[in-house]
Amino acid sequence: MRDFTYNAHPARIVFGSGSLSHLPEEARRLGLNRVLVLSTKEQRQSADDAARMLGAISAGVFAGAVMHTPVDVTNEAMTIVADQHIDGVVAIGGGSTIGLGKAIALRSDLPQIVVPTTYAGSEVTPIIGETKDGLKTTQTTPRVLPEVVIYDVDLTLGLPTGLSATSGMNAIAHAVEALYARDGSPVISLMAVEGVRALARSLPVIVRNPADRAARSEAQYGAWLCGTCLGSVGMSLHHKLCHTLGGTFNLPHAETHTVVLPHALQYNAPLVQGAIEALAGGLGNSDPVRALYDLAGELGAPRALKDLGMPQSGIDEATDLALSNPYWNPRPLERAGVRACIAAAWAGDPPSA
Ligand code: NAD
Repeated sequence: MRDFTYNAHPARIVFGSGSLSHLPEEARRLGLNRVLVLSTKEQRQSADDAARMLGAISAGVFAGAVMHTPVDVTNEAMTIVADQHIDGVVAIGGGSTIGLGKAIALRSDLPQIVVPTTYAGSEVTPIIGETKDGLKTTQTTPRVLPEVVIYDVDLTLGLPTGLSATSGMNAIAHAVEALYARDGSPVISLMAVEGVRALARSLPVIVRNPADRAARSEAQYGAWLCGTCLGSVGMSLHHKLCHTLGGTFNLPHAETHTVVLPHALQYNAPLVQGAIEALAGGLGNSDPVRALYDLAGELGAPRALKDLGMPQSGIDEATDLALSNPYWNPRPLERAGVRACIAAAWAGDPPSA
């Protein structure tokens, strides 16, 4: 057994169909009396339902959450927090809404109850990305960790299949990189393999039948495990590439993860044999790199950056950016190899050694 340090983050997880009904009880456990419910404008209905459930302790809904947690939106929400004497927030939605809840907690230390409705995993990480004047900065601080996460599968039944597929692949990417993280541990590896197994098994079922409650539930379980991996250990080349590509070419977050993942894993594969074997077990396939590329295809998810709007002329710029301020990576970053990885992802070619 290799030496390791395992850092567990506190998390209270309430998991199950209909578990949103525990919301008032969870709010009372935290001693809340003036709760602000957060959502995007698309999920306003879910936020209104939650506010109704909270009854007298609801202080209203702020349905202004948008992608990339712009500071302007956070400031608008903070005005309501101050004016309405808010003492806790409930975030219902995906990574964008959860990001707003975290941004409020960062500034106020208010407790958060999070009800995730995608598979992105932000609800169990101490990570927050915020955007100001078009620039996204990310920080890691326990101040933004939600106090309670309610995983109610019922709220995911309407998640469109496309977003289900790509946000599930986004979660798998967290687990893949956790398996070769410098600060990994046997416990995180267990969660990573189990998370990959649960998502790889459930996502194809969900794409065929989005209302399959058992598959949705398994995917949420996988998303929790994969998100916990992301929150516990450092990420490498794959996440660096996705942040760079997303920020530079304004590419959609989950789709970019889906496209890049097999190529980034291919780049690292020669030096991470243990991770490859673990993934082979989780995916039930002796070639996990190819299995991830094939899984994206089976899910009908995008497999080429050119289809997401990245220009071919951006390949060299993206390579330069990926090599500047790199994250730690198990395989040293070589320009030709990284460029080949981005070029293959751009074209949508199957990953090749
Ligand atoms: P999202 O939150 O941006 O949601 C996309 C759209 O889908 C929104 O309009 C949302 O309202 C809608 N939606 C969400 N759930 C739905 C449902 N069940 N039914 C119908 N519509 C639904 O998408 P995401 O992929 O969850 O989040 C992406 C963002 O999260 C990115 O900004 C990313 O950087 C961030 N993120 C952060 C972390 C972290 O640890 N800080 C981790 C993962 C992702």
